[in-house]
Amino acid sequence: MQASLLGRPLQVSGHALRTRVIMGSMHTGFEEHPEGNEHLAAFYQARAKGGVALIITGGISPNADGVVTDEGAKLTTDEEAAWHKVVTDAVHQDGAKICMQILHTGRYAMMRQPVAPSAIQAPINPARPRALSLSEVKQTVQDYIRCAQLAQQAGYDGVEVMGSEGYLINQFIAKRTNQRDDEYGGSLENRHRFAQEIVAGIRAACGDDFIIIFRLSVLDLVEDGSTWEDNLELIARIEAAGASMFNTGIGWHEARIPTIATMVPRAAFKEFTGKLKQASSLPVIATNRINMPEVAESILQAGLADAVCLARPMLADAEWTNKALNQQSAAINTCIACNQACLDHIFVGKLTSRLVNPFACHELQLIQTPALKKKKIAVIGAGPAGMACAKTASERGHQAALFDALSELGGQLNIAKTIPGKQEFYEAIRYFKHELEKLGVHIQLNHRVQADDVSDFDEIVLASGIHPRQIELEGISHSKVMTYLDVLRERKPVGNNVAIIGSGGIGFDVGEFLSQDGPDSALDSHLFQQEWQIDASLEHAGGLTAPEPQLHPSKRNITICQRKPGMVGRTLGKTTGWIHRLTLKERGVNMMGGLEYVKVDDAGLHVKQAGEDKVLEVDHVIVCAGQVPNRDLQAALEALGKPVHLIGGAEIAAELDAKRAILSGTQVALAL
Ligand code: FAD
Ligand code: NAP
Repeated sequence: MQASLLGRPLQVSGHALRTRVIMGSMHTGFEEHPEGNEHLAAFYQARAKGGVALIITGGISPNADGVVTDEGAKLTTDEEAAWHKVVTDAVHQDGAKICMQILHTGRYAMMRQPVAPSAIQAPINPARPRALSLSEVKQTVQDYIRCAQLAQQAGYDGVEVMGSEGYLINQFIAKRTNQRDDEYGGSLENRHRFAQEIVAGIRAACGDDFIIIFRLSVLDLVEDGSTWEDNLELIARIEAAGASMFNTGIGWHEARIPTIATMVPRAAFKEFTGKLKQASSLPVIATNRINMPEVAESILQAGLADAVCLARPMLADAEWTNKALNQQSAAINTCIACNQACLDHIFVGKLTSRLVNPFACHELQLIQTPALKKKKIAVIGAGPAGMACAKTASERGHQAALFDALSELGGQLNIAKTIPGKQEFYEAIRYFKHELEKLGVHIQLNHRVQADDVSDFDEIVLASGIHPRQIELEGISHSKVMTYLDVLRERKPVGNNVAIIGSGGIGFDVGEFLSQDGPDSALDSHLFQQEWQIDASLEHAGGLTAPEPQLHPSKRNITICQRKPGMVGRTLGKTTGWIHRLTLKERGVNMMGGLEYVKVDDAGLHVKQAGEDKVLEVDHVIVCAGQVPNRDLQAALEALGKPVHLIGGAEIAAELDAKRAILSGTQVALAL
């Protein structure tokens, strides 16, 4: 192993970055709140203390048209600039630099009438935009420049000009969205003019030692996007305009290709950043699915980038950088790229947080203090709820003991990690195991607890999880019927024709597991690119060789069934559900909604759909119909006369996921 490059300083526009680790832009939800600056200051300061060199904030609009929603944050006045000063001061106290991202959403704005280069509607926005007039385009350029000046006044060391992900600047650059016939449309030079004038204007207004990062869309992943030849011209123009550094942008938001979710291989797009680095004389930042130091280091060692940018991993672990520099990878609370508590929250207007770290963005609400009275705490069940509870209780000074009937820590996460594309769940278990051992928590595995075993403890936490829901159906005891545990945990043989009852996360995961033939593309970037038709040569516009993905078809004949009418799998996560649905559809998995289950017999699964009787002639019917709490021990524990706390699935099984399990374990431990 060569010497670490992550820890080397980097000079950018007169600023010495102390390492090569940059925190990427993430909207948190605090940007729009009047007191959100105090929260943001605490959130960013924790990451600055954690050793990050430069923080890029969530996107702030340069004018009222560019906000994400009507309430979205903008920076247009001295008063708004003063709001940001609290944030920049906090970060500077801990030796990090901070750049504000300037983001104009253009046709992605969720408002009555967004603005755009041309009146072409985005497929992900119900509102049709109106085209900006020539004078409005020129005014928008001035708004970016004024916004950067205000950012400088607020103490920011620079700005990131968001030129990727399909936002306004990208909309000017691509033919797909720019059909103007004035000086900002038509030729490539004209389509680049908007970006170029913004960067040149900011440089002239803010001086030489103001950092200007330009986030360039190296891969649009949409039809009629840029070719690599187009990008080469853009790189030259942005350099000439005075940018300090390039950041990598991958995929427009409307692209139907996963770019950051957990089934995307780690650092899957690093070669595209490498092309940007080859073409540019400026420092270049790599992004997307860089979650562990070894991944980051290998990108730098291969000369593909000068720095790495991590966004969600900084939510998962504020100390990521210091741990990386001190060779403590095993101690990192790793981002598993599930999006469940970050992006899925933002899309429904909730505060960002982290499945594996509920403290993220809740620094001022979830306060961990030493326990006033040290107690002996028994935690029964070592799933995510139990592990989180034992960890926090022990950190507070309690003497915690953690029991599980199975031979491994992790509970259902051990099943989740076996699903193709969900291997990252392994990291969550690894992290908790490391911390629990470091804290000296007494761990007893292969031990099914009875109430008497824990009678000596002061307080008892029941984290025994769930039982799979048993459904009432004629023929439910037929040999064709299996549970998801039979398939995923017991690995019982499954036939070629399968019906899955239930279209929640587990029904889809079983579908994913049974339809996966051949190697898993989540572990191989080249295979991933092939499957999703990404053009590694970048000769095709937008970097796509074909409009539709071509996933390996399933050898099994699988049908996912649902009682609800409408789209099957609608309840899956906002930012990942479409990937699961598309993946299974491309593999040839059938989906049937609006069903009434009638019976199972030798012929298969009998159903009624819109009044019509149908028989799914299957070898196996796999029940994935949700879960109920496992409170088998509750009464016996309460009979001990000790306080008993229920957490995770044992408390509430409906809509349970690992995010809620970890949060509930942490909250109970904070109150013990
Ligand atoms: P569990 O994880 O069920 O842990 C309970 C533990 O208690 C078990 O290990 C059990 O052995 C132990 N136990 C029970 N009784 C006793 C006893 N008497 N003595 C000792 N030990 C006992 N969630 C997500 O957020 N995102 C996902 O992508 C996701 N994917 C999933 C995929 C699959 C295939 C499955 C099955 C689950 C998935 N989940 C996912 C759900 C998530 O794993 C659960 O919500 C979470 O594990 C619940 O945590 P828990 O700690 O409450 O219970
Ligand atoms: P779930 O999401 O509650 O889905 C259960 C499914 O079973 C539903 O689709 C429901 O659909 C059906 N169902 C419920 N009761 C039924 C009955 N009596 N008879 C027949 N069908 C019935 O539960 P899950 O899939 O077991 O997942 C458990 C938890 O793990 C979920 O809360 C989920 O968040 C989490 N998880 C998350 C992910 C992820 O990727 N984020 C992945 C896996 C699991 P109909 O009623 O319409 O038929």
